[in-house]
Amino acid sequence: MTVLEKALGAYLGFACGDALGATVEFMSPKKIQKRYGVHREMIGGGWLGLEAGQVTDDTQMALALGQAIIDQNGWNIRAVADNFVAWLDSDPPDVGTTCRRGIVRYRDDGELYGLPREDDAGNGACMRNLPVALATLNRPDHFAAWSLEQCRITHHNPLSDAATLTLGQMAQHLINGQGIDACKQEAEQLISRYGEFAYSPYPGKASGYIVDTVQTVLHYFFSTDCFESCLVNTVNQGGDADTTGALAGMLAGAKYGVGQIPVRWLAQLDQQVAGQIRRQVAALVGLAGLL
Ligand code: MN
Ligand code: MN
Repeated sequence: MTVLEKALGAYLGFACGDALGATVEFMSPKKIQKRYGVHREMIGGGWLGLEAGQVTDDTQMALALGQAIIDQNGWNIRAVADNFVAWLDSDPPDVGTTCRRGIVRYRDDGELYGLPREDDAGNGACMRNLPVALATLNRPDHFAAWSLEQCRITHHNPLSDAATLTLGQMAQHLINGQGIDACKQEAEQLISRYGEFAYSPYPGKASGYIVDTVQTVLHYFFSTDCFESCLVNTVNQGGDADTTGALAGMLAGAKYGVGQIPVRWLAQLDQQVAGQIRRQVAALVGLAGLL
């Protein structure tokens, strides 16, 4: 598999997880089972009343971040923050509370980050970081610096920071062909620093709290053996299912490649979004070759 097939797998996989999971966002596993049996089709609906294949803030914010990197031919944190403002001003269907607070602070005061806060430990910064991982495939130093800067526009919290770096590095290892052992090592390092991320035995919570999100993503990523089962198992856990689905889709897509994403999901996914993703992947991976 080529780097491009894995990078495209990661980004399209991410969007598929968002669109698939959004249907059951904030539902319990029991409720999902009662209503859908096993939820495995991209049918839209959910609390946001989405069209089939429509994505949410997770993918939209990643696209805003990716476009800033492409337009600047590299890193410019103000360009990133400006794109987040433009996105918020476009009146999207869903905006996380912490994301909104940070973007409004930048829009009103020009402040690029807030003071560290306990309650910034949501998954909203981590969820959108894939474009940074793609643009810095060969530059771990840039990866860490850019990631933390974009995170802290909205979330300034050590658990959010650590999780963002870990999941991004895992995506990079997979795309660079280093395989699952390198990912397990990253997970172990994270847990040795912050024991609360331990995911085995899996505690079964899938909320937007970054610890619950990461446990869910890692549990299902490491315990499944193909793209589809990884995503289906993840989103049927409910909770913040679009975001756990997106992050699981990112890792599974990076591991298995775009060729393993079910054709019916790729066909259903919002085609404008899919087109943007294809263009961004080419540009971001191209940029990574130049840095
Ligand atoms: Mn969302
Ligand atoms: Mn969500």
